[in-house]
Amino acid sequence: MSRRVLDLSGRRAVVTGGSRGVGRATALLLARAGARVGIGYRSRSEAALQVVRRMHELNSAGFALAGDLTREADVEALFDRADDAFGGVDLVVGNHGIWPSADIPLAQMTLEHWQRTLKVNLESLFLVCREAARRVADGGAIVVVSSTAAQRGETFHGDYAASKGGLNSLVKGLAVELAPRGITVNAVAPGWIETDMTEEVLSGPGRTKALESIPLGRIATPEDVAGPIAFLCSDLARHVTGEVMNVNGGAVRPG
Ligand code: NAP
Repeated sequence: MSRRVLDLSGRRAVVTGGSRGVGRATALLLARAGARVGIGYRSRSEAALQVVRRMHELNSAGFALAGDLTREADVEALFDRADDAFGGVDLVVGNHGIWPSADIPLAQMTLEHWQRTLKVNLESLFLVCREAARRVADGGAIVVVSSTAAQRGETFHGDYAASKGGLNSLVKGLAVELAPRGITVNAVAPGWIETDMTEEVLSGPGRTKALESIPLGRIATPEDVAGPIAFLCSDLARHVTGEVMNVNGGAVRPG
């Protein structure tokens, strides 16, 4: 009998954006907890294969599939692959996303810029959540990665904050839709995390400002965010649904 408290053995997971950052840390944590994990990524094959190799070292079967998840066909292909490899899916972590790092006042923001962010961070997550709603087995879990920006806004990044706000709303409705099947649907909302996405800002003067906004006094690691995601995927959180869980070191002021 397993002595693990957080035991995901027998669970079949799909993690989007699993090649790097939060998605990578999540895929590896789910694998360590005993799940079989398939990751989706856009184009960085070497990084994705390295995650698969690491999962195999953890004795967990896994796969990686490249695709642009703003495309319906690529989302379907990712779930088809999970069906082929694992015979179905129990856990879906919709994590992929972009954060255009340049500060752009809304008055200067182009429609193209706005639409690109909304397409990757919201429309694409609609496609992932829709496919998850169709395919996740009863008793499964869906977790999406939002952002603290959704609740407190993000000055000069209105596109990003709005995309994540939409995601929070999506989660709340879907949680009720899927509740009769025992499927939980939640979001985690991180603040600043040390990943490629934020490297440009956090390696410059922006780091001090970011740190000042975090009561716990440090920038999160990807593993800091993967832990709450794994919890929400586990039976420990089986009575938690429709929630947005902040994972931001206590940062609550407007960003
Ligand atoms: P990251 O290191 O930049 O990695 C992004 C991942 O998403 C990569 O695996 C990338 O694939 C994949 N991806 C991007 N666009 C895609 C597309 N169209 N189709 C398929 N895959 C795509 O990101 P991160 O910092 O770990 O962020 C993960 C999530 O946390 C995002 O939703 C982000 O908005 C959220 N978040 C991050 C922070 C932060 O401070 N970093 C804070 C709050 C919330 P490739 O490797 O192939 O490019």
